[in-house]
Amino acid sequence: MALSGLDIYKLLPKTNCKECGQPTCLAFAMKLAAKQADLSACPYVSEQSKAALAAAAAPPIRLVTVGTGDKKVEVGNETVLFRHDKTFFHRPGLFVRLTDRMPLAEFEAAVGRIKDYGIERVGITMRVDGIAIENASGDAATFATYAGAAAAKTDQPLVLVATTPAAMAAALEKVGTAAPLIHAATAENWKEMASLAAKYKAPLAIRADNLQALAELTEQVKGTGVEDMVLDPGARDLHGSLVALTQLRRLALKSNFRLLGYPIVTFPGEGAESVQDETVRAAQHIAKYAGIIVLDHFEPAIAYPLLTLRQNIYTDPQKPIQVSAGIYEMNAPKPDSPLLVTTNFSLTYFSVAGEVEASGKPAWLLIVDSEGMSVLTSWAAGKFDAEKIAKSVKQFDVPSRISHKKIVIPGLVAGLSGELEEELPGWEIRVGPREAIDIPAYLKAWS
Ligand code: SF4
Repeated sequence: MALSGLDIYKLLPKTNCKECGQPTCLAFAMKLAAKQADLSACPYVSEQSKAALAAAAAPPIRLVTVGTGDKKVEVGNETVLFRHDKTFFHRPGLFVRLTDRMPLAEFEAAVGRIKDYGIERVGITMRVDGIAIENASGDAATFATYAGAAAAKTDQPLVLVATTPAAMAAALEKVGTAAPLIHAATAENWKEMASLAAKYKAPLAIRADNLQALAELTEQVKGTGVEDMVLDPGARDLHGSLVALTQLRRLALKSNFRLLGYPIVTFPGEGAESVQDETVRAAQHIAKYAGIIVLDHFEPAIAYPLLTLRQNIYTDPQKPIQVSAGIYEMNAPKPDSPLLVTTNFSLTYFSVAGEVEASGKPAWLLIVDSEGMSVLTSWAAGKFDAEKIAKSVKQFDVPSRISHKKIVIPGLVAGLSGELEEELPGWEIRVGPREAIDIPAYLKAWS
C-alpha cells in the first residue's frame, strides 16, 4: 500500500535543513509520495525509516534489464499514463522471434541480418534490439544449439521462449550468463522456471490469461526471491491487449499495485491475420504500454515505421531533438556556393541537409538556434525571425566564408524577406522552396 505524504513526513527527521533541495521535510515528503523525488536525496533518514519508506520510494513499475553490456535493454520504471504528462523513459525493446525448427544456416543468417540492420533518423541510428528464440521443435538439445548459435552471432539481448523447464535449462546452460529473458513461468511450471531465473540471475516473464491469475503468480514467484519479472497477460488481439495493457499500467501507477508493477511483454504476430496486421498491433503496443515486443517478421519495411514511431513517442515532449546552431558545409562548398538558412530542429535539419547532400550541389547551410522548433512553429513563436537570422550570420562569421551576399530563406517564411533586407543591408534575400524535397531542383537552377 502506498504511503501518503503525511505518512512519509512522520518518518523524516523534520529538521527542515533543505539539503534535499526542498524547503521543508513536508515538501520533500509530498515529492516522495508523488514519485518526484528520490529518498537518497535526504542524508539524514534513519535505517529504520528507510526500510519503512522503501515501499513508497520504489518505482511503481520495476526497472528490468534484459541482456548485458552496452546493448542491454532496460524497460519499466515509467511514471505516467500519458506521454504529455511528463515523458516516457524506457522505450520498448523490439525483438524478432526465430524458431529452432528453421534450418540452422537460415537461422544464423537471419540473426546476422537483424543484428546488422540500422537506419539513421534525425542523427540517431535506430536498431532492432534483439532476438527471441522459440523452442518450436520441442527438443531441449536443439533449443540449446540454436540459443548458442544466436549468442555466437550477436551480442544483442535474447529472449528464450519455451514451455518446458528442461528445454529452458538446456538453453540457459549455453547463454545464461547473458541474462536473457526467460519466457515463461506459468501456473504449471513456475517453481522450476523461477529456480532457473534465480540460478542465472535472468529476468523471468510470467504468463497467465487474466490479471488476477497474473498477480497470484507474481506473488508466488516473488516469494522465491526472484524480483525481475515481466508480465505476459495473454491477450493477443487489438482490443484485448489494449484493455489488458492499459489496466496493468493503471493498476501499477494509480493504485500502486505492486504485484502487477512490472514491464509487459507482447507478441503482436500471434493471431495476426497478416504482416500488416502484426505491424499495426506492434504499433499499438509501442504507444500503450509494452516493455518488450516480440515480432514474428523482420523486414526493413516493418522495422522502420515501428522504430520511427518508437523514437517519436519516447522523446521528451518538452525537449525537442535539436542540432547545434552554426554554419555547415555540404558537398565541399566554395565561397561562391549558395547559402541556405533554416532552424535547428533535428527533423528540419536532417530533411534539408539530406536533400542538399542528395542534390550533389555544394552549399552552405546556416542553422539558427530556434530552440529546437521547426520553421513555422519557431517563426510563430518569435524564435526564427529576421533579427535572429541576421545575428546568426554575424555570430558564425558567414561573410568570411562566402564571396557573395545572397541568402536563401525557407519558402514557408517568405514574409521575412523585407525585414531581413533591413537587418542585412546590401544582401539579396532569396526565397527558397517550401518543402525540403524541392531543394535539389532549386539548387540545380541556382545562378
Ligand atoms: Fe528534511 Fe532530510 Fe530534506 Fe533535511 S534533507 S529538509 S531532513 S527531508
